[in-house]
Amino acid sequence: MAISLSTDIMYLAGVGPKRAELLKAELSIHTFGDLLYYFPFRYVDRSRFYKISEISEDLPYIQVVGKIVRFQEVGVGRKKRLTAIFTDGTGTLELVWFKGLKWVVKSIKPNVTYVVFGKPNLFGGKFNIAHPEVEDYKSDQENLGSALQPVYNTTEKLKSSFVTSKTILKLQQVLNGAISDIVQETLPPYLIERVKLMTLREALCNIHFPSSVSLLKKAEARLKFEELFYVQLNLLYQKNTRYLKVQGNVFSQVGEAFNRFYAEKLPFALTDAQKRVIKEIRRDMGSGKQMNRLLQGDVGSGKTLVALMSMLIAVDNGYQACIMAPTEILATQHYETISGMLHGLGINVGLLTGSTKRSERAPLHAQLEGGSMHLLIGTHALIEDVVQFHNLGLVVIDEQQRFGVAQRAKLWQKNDKPPHVLVMTATPIPRTLAMTIYGDLEVSVIDQMPPGRKPIKTIHYTDAKRNLVFGLMREQIKQGRQVYVVYPLINESEKMDYKDLMDGYESIARAFPPPQYVTVVVHGKMKPQEKDESMQLFASGKAHIMVATTVIEVGVNVPNATVMVIESAERFGLSQLHQLRGRVGRGADESYCVLMSGVKLTNESRKRMQTMVATNDGFEIAEVDMQIRGPGDIEGTQQSGLPFDFKIASLSKDGQILQFARQVASDIIDEDKALTNPKNQILFRQIEQMTQERISFGQIS
Ligand code: ADP
Ligand code: MG
Repeated sequence: MAISLSTDIMYLAGVGPKRAELLKAELSIHTFGDLLYYFPFRYVDRSRFYKISEISEDLPYIQVVGKIVRFQEVGVGRKKRLTAIFTDGTGTLELVWFKGLKWVVKSIKPNVTYVVFGKPNLFGGKFNIAHPEVEDYKSDQENLGSALQPVYNTTEKLKSSFVTSKTILKLQQVLNGAISDIVQETLPPYLIERVKLMTLREALCNIHFPSSVSLLKKAEARLKFEELFYVQLNLLYQKNTRYLKVQGNVFSQVGEAFNRFYAEKLPFALTDAQKRVIKEIRRDMGSGKQMNRLLQGDVGSGKTLVALMSMLIAVDNGYQACIMAPTEILATQHYETISGMLHGLGINVGLLTGSTKRSERAPLHAQLEGGSMHLLIGTHALIEDVVQFHNLGLVVIDEQQRFGVAQRAKLWQKNDKPPHVLVMTATPIPRTLAMTIYGDLEVSVIDQMPPGRKPIKTIHYTDAKRNLVFGLMREQIKQGRQVYVVYPLINESEKMDYKDLMDGYESIARAFPPPQYVTVVVHGKMKPQEKDESMQLFASGKAHIMVATTVIEVGVNVPNATVMVIESAERFGLSQLHQLRGRVGRGADESYCVLMSGVKLTNESRKRMQTMVATNDGFEIAEVDMQIRGPGDIEGTQQSGLPFDFKIASLSKDGQILQFARQVASDIIDEDKALTNPKNQILFRQIEQMTQERISFGQIS
């Protein structure tokens, strides 16, 4: 049988059908290639031996040399375990097995010198190692090709079937022998030379069997570069292809709608950042190419206005525009702000959400199709097939991280000619992530706040300080300000959360009794009308306190609110906390954000609280968030999913390699846009393959 990287893993010596099933199910290793690219997650220095007397709890994996003094079976039934007292003369250590006891008794003997390897735990004042690796002292020395021993991730199930990290290493050795000469280089030689990289073959060999730290580093560098490079090359290639292929509506002029709005309606001067971004958008929309632009700007930086003015340019050129928001509250608020600001300019603005009445829909649809409605504001309801435009020229997506890719794509398809697209996000994301997720978009950043904003004071209190919080609320309300109190609602259907919310509401109503104080509630389970009533009471200043769930997290704008109290703040993620905090500090007054939490916090939640107290900068917070949670989990990627699954590169740690890889990719595309130059043939083939893989993924979902 001819062997290739796509050969079924079952055929590797030492695997067989049963292990193959396990490897497939547990580690997604289906083929020789999958195993080859199953990299160690760390390496241990096996040249270092510890004395038992040196062991401390914070040590990671260690190895000690010594003998087992005696075995002992403890417990019965499912709780049965086997322990062994192990000594090296400097102290004793307990080895513990919960599974495979028979095998241990058969193969491991007292009074033989062994090398024992594992992670020490402190239990009942004594150190133990659970399920250690135990090897003959001599054979271990012989087997050791290198001092750096790779450690592979395995699962409980694999371990109980005796597929340990060590087993995987053995399989890697077999594989290496079998395929070393069929590994094809995946980067062109000129690039390998220019960037001074290891060849793929060398890199794959050194990643599994490093003979020195410096060779390991070089192998890692090559593999990380390659991964990040191809993602960037692919993004830039696709962007360029689209750019060449797709015609855009040409918005050649700025006319009455824009100019009259600017002269008569604009309530304040634009910030320089807003001006710059509007210029960028105008240039794109007039270029004849289709605009695909991401607008990043921190909470409160004034993105709505930029969106509105961009939409007015569409109107001035005879096109319709729409803005899609993730929640009904936000859509309604946009509608009110925008139709208010456009009053008297003869621009027809509509609102379409899930709760728009049937009877109102028909005329709305008719006006859209006929072209007499210029701007449409709404929620997901916009992407329904029945909603047809006369000539949709610009689509704005607010808080785009809340929409899936498919939902966004649907809006694109409403016209023969694709509309210009402006996606906005108020959850700043780290640069490396932006480059990877949105690498095929143009990016504008509003990096300046409207003048007169004071930074929000953030305080972290434990529940015992509730009186201080109530004091602050009273004082602010006395000065005519308003207060939000937010409860976590992880899962809309969780009864507990509602109980917390309603208990909280009652305790606040007791401390702030009517009629002197008016408190309203907003949560996701309320009928739209009730929600609306509460929102109105608060927005108009008639209610002093709003008790709410995170439905208010996104975009709600009541400038007179100056206090944001976040209950059980430890249950929120960083970007959510930052979003919530952004609901205050919207006027000229000093504002406060109070994070209430229990006393006991995990390290992660403590770090989140500290970060919130330390900075108001959304980009800084995004970086910390990515360091804590990893790029796959941070807001902005959860919904749409990280489009690439990195085997070795990390967006939080390899920022520099990423920057460099992007630059290299961009130079190549500049020089050879369609990658037709023979020297770039490998690049073209790799990209074709990546695209195919992604298409098949799209078809599945
Ligand atoms: P976000 O970027 O979070 O969507 P908004 O667009 O809701 O922010 O703007 C926040 C607030 O700032 C609004 O009340 C808006 O009217 C106000 N604002 C926007 N631009 C300016 C400006 N140039 N000067 C003063 N206030 C502004
Ligand atoms: Mg907004």
